[in-house]
This record gives sequence, C-alpha cells and structure tokens, in this order.
Amino acid sequence: MRKSDSVLIIYTGGTIGMYKTNEGSLRPFDLDTLSMQIPELNTFDIDINTKTITQPIDSSNMCKEVWIQLVEIIEKEYNNYNGFVILHGSDTMAYTASALSFMLENLNKPIILTGAQLPIGVLRTDAKENIITSIEIASKGNIPEVCVYFEYRLMRGNRCTKANAEHFEAFKSPNFIYLAEAGLEIKYSPIKYDRTNKNLKVHTNLSDDVLILKLFPSMKKEFITKVLDMPYQGIILETFGAGNASTAKWFLRAIQTAIDNGKLILNVSQCLSGSVSQGLYETSSKLGELGVISGKDMTTEAALTKMMYLLGTDYSLKETKQQLLISLRGELSN
Ligand code: ASP
Repeated sequence: MRKSDSVLIIYTGGTIGMYKTNEGSLRPFDLDTLSMQIPELNTFDIDINTKTITQPIDSSNMCKEVWIQLVEIIEKEYNNYNGFVILHGSDTMAYTASALSFMLENLNKPIILTGAQLPIGVLRTDAKENIITSIEIASKGNIPEVCVYFEYRLMRGNRCTKANAEHFEAFKSPNFIYLAEAGLEIKYSPIKYDRTNKNLKVHTNLSDDVLILKLFPSMKKEFITKVLDMPYQGIILETFGAGNASTAKWFLRAIQTAIDNGKLILNVSQCLSGSVSQGLYETSSKLGELGVISGKDMTTEAALTKMMYLLGTDYSLKETKQQLLISLRGELSN
C-alpha cells in the first residue's frame, strides 16, 4: 500500500556513499542496498525511492553539468514526492546547495543535501543520523528551500559553508539562523515563507564565465592585472574584513579597467561571518566609487553560483547588477 509521505533520495557520491568491504577498503555502495546499510529506514512510514546520477563522484569533481542533472531529476519527479534528499560529498556541498537554490525558482518543497565525515559502513559513522533526519524533514514538505543537514542542524543551503575537515560538525551558517535543530525533537525556527502557487521554474543555463580572486598582502601587480584582464565577465573579489582592499594606485586602476570593460566585480569578505560594508573604511569606499558591487554577507559559494546563474539569464548588465544586490533566494541580508 502506498504511504502518504514520500521522499526521493538522489545519490551523487562522496564519503557518505562508501562502505567498508571485507577486505577493509572503501567502496561506493549500491543504492539498492541502502536499506541493508540502514535497516532503520524500513521502520519509516514513508515511501522512499532512490536515483543515482550518471556517474557518482567525489564532490571535488563537482561541475555545473551535475547540477543540471540534479535539477532535471527534481523537475521530472517534482510532483511525485513531498521532498528530496541529495547524498553528496561534503567538500563542495555548499556550492551545490547554493547553485540549486538559484536554479530552482518558486521552490515549494524541501531539497535537503546531506553527507558524512565517516562512511556509512564505519561503526562511528555520522551518515545514518544525517540520512535518517534528512528524510524525516524532507517528508514533512514544510521547508520550501534548498538546505544542508549536518550534525543535528538544518541550514539554508546558500548560507552555509564547510568549516571543518575533521569534526562531525563540518558546516557553519555564520550569517543566518539554523532552520531547524534536531534533538529529542526537531525544532524548527519560526521562519515565515511566502508560499507561492507559481509553478517551479528550472534554470539550467549557467555561465562559467566567472572566477574567484582572493586578495592577499604583497600581491603582485602583474598577477592581479593579468587575472582582471582575463576574458571572464564575473569576478568574485574576496577582500579583507568588511570588504577592504589595497588602495595602491595600480590596483584601483586595474579594477577600474576591468569594470570599464564590462566586467562585474562582486565584493565578498574573506571572513567567515559579518558583512561587506563598502564605505566603512577608506580602503573600501574607493571600490564602491569604481562600481564594485557589494556582496554584503553572502558566502563565496553563494556569490559564485549567483553570478553563474545571473550571467546565464538574459538580464542586461544593469539588471544583473541590481539582482546581485538583492536577495533572490534568501542568500543575503538586506
Ligand atoms: N572528498 C569527499 C567528497 O566531498 C569528502 C566527503 O564526502 O565528505 O566527496
């Protein structure tokens, strides 16, 4: 008999999908054996189905083609499930979560990405709890956004970042509250969603005409001018503190030339939390005067994928700038 709640699990690879063979090596598991690995799943009163992308990968090999595959699966299966759980390597999970948030417009159902620091077949694995709670939250259908669930916390996907390579608590959401915390009960934050009855709109035209430039003390003029001169239209500039950068004449001239050549430069901070505030210091007011766009409190992952999404639309340069400044999917605080 069909159960009332249903979740589709989409497997992309990563540590979560590995199990230890009798010989002791790690192998990606076959999704059909998921309930063998996690027998607790059989006690759920939820219909759970699974799908795998064409070629499961370590998420360090993540690319826009896989993001497109994911949104196409979601689009095709959208009406058949209450929610979706994506099993994903943790390394680039925040990039994928951010990208999907922009690619899926008018989303009305939860898309929860989860992973693990220890493979599923390992005794102390965090995979089981992460998968089980993600499925439970996804089945309720009440969080209409792309999220990351890790170590008892549900986070807005385009607000989180991987902050620890060895603790189970691998992700942080430095500028936005947790959407939910799982303890004895799952406690949801009181977020008011503007539920839409518009149809899901899937955007698959992402531009990879983008780069990230991280500033550092003692950077060389030749390097910076060369990078800014390369034929990329969207540049994410990772600056210091509240959006500050060198005031060296050559640096500002290189920024000016890039902007005059039609490039979009988006300023995000190297700091984990807080916001870019162009004009707070003299070292950032010049950037604003030259036309550098403030990325406010966006993560680098959100800034990059937002740029990829916007440059793939048919917005004019002016419209793209306006869109970068406002929150499209809750990725920045206004
Ligand atoms: N390298 C792995 C990946 O991102 C790490 C993990 O899954 O946590 O696919």
